[in-house]
Amino acid sequence: MLIVMHHHATPEQVAAVVAAVRALGFTPQPIPGENRVAIGVLGNQGYVNEEPFRDLPGIQELIHVTKPYKLVSRDFHPADTSITVGGVRVGWSNDLVVIAGPCTVESREQVLATARAVRSAGARVLRGGAFKPRTGPHSFQGLGYEGLEYLAEAGREVGLPIVTEVMRIDQIERVAAVADCLQIGARNMQNFDLLKEVGRIGKPVLLKRGISATLEEFLAAAEYIVAEGNDQVILCERGIRTFERALRNTLDLGVVPYLRQVTHLPVIVDPSHALGRRDLVIPMSKAAAVVGAAGIMVEVHPDPAHALCDGPQSLDPADFQQLIRELRTVSRV
Ligand code: PEP
Ligand code: MN
Repeated sequence: MLIVMHHHATPEQVAAVVAAVRALGFTPQPIPGENRVAIGVLGNQGYVNEEPFRDLPGIQELIHVTKPYKLVSRDFHPADTSITVGGVRVGWSNDLVVIAGPCTVESREQVLATARAVRSAGARVLRGGAFKPRTGPHSFQGLGYEGLEYLAEAGREVGLPIVTEVMRIDQIERVAAVADCLQIGARNMQNFDLLKEVGRIGKPVLLKRGISATLEEFLAAAEYIVAEGNDQVILCERGIRTFERALRNTLDLGVVPYLRQVTHLPVIVDPSHALGRRDLVIPMSKAAAVVGAAGIMVEVHPDPAHALCDGPQSLDPADFQQLIRELRTVSRV
């Protein structure tokens, strides 16, 4: 961190800042300038807490040089981390992994039919929501533990690992007992208590980017999980909210090559929630593969017209087969 003093700061005020830096166990390095003094903070391993400086007089600005994340950064951990989800490897240098399944588990039959269809077409992981974060309280909220059971049964039946969302801390234990990967949804990306708790389990976590989260916030959220001891985190770009209204969200594909530079954690792309339209899922999945995504996650429903949630963006089994065929033209799937 660099602490920039006001041009009218007194030598006593500079000395007080220097003492506050020392009190934190760091080394202050005063940098005299033409008009003002700056004090460099040396020796910190991570983000420097601003609190001790907040009320000190004479400070103009605190500039963070180190980022609020460290464990997830390439600087700290140069080699790619590859995450194993029920035997399937997800990583920057692994083959593209396709995760597919319904938005929401609606019945035993629906999830089983979907699982069979996506498995035979080439999906490697089965998704399905049992606990659903819905915008309105009157919308279908998912089948809860009953849905989890159907998803687990379908996964076992077709031989695919499963990923499903947890919304609350008290769901983690029961969900982790059957799921191969726990999803943290976009709306919970900054639910810090939930992040810490999934950091304490020994299961992979699929962390979705918040609806208006910056990449720094996204990585800091992942840092919460890794800081608790769980480094099996897959990041998922699922579109962000911008001024553009024609599509459900704006798919920010630049994050894939960018994050590949700054983090060792793999990034997958969810074009279903990003675009909100089934006809755009195939082209944007291919785009995600081309820019190097470690995987894609798409919603598939046996009868999208009658889906209880996200039908307009769900592929039917024939569309999904088409997706896999087209992906194979651009990537090893
Ligand atoms: C989902 O993938 O089921 C979901 C609800 O997505 P998001 O959290 O990205 O909105
Ligand atoms: Mn959905």
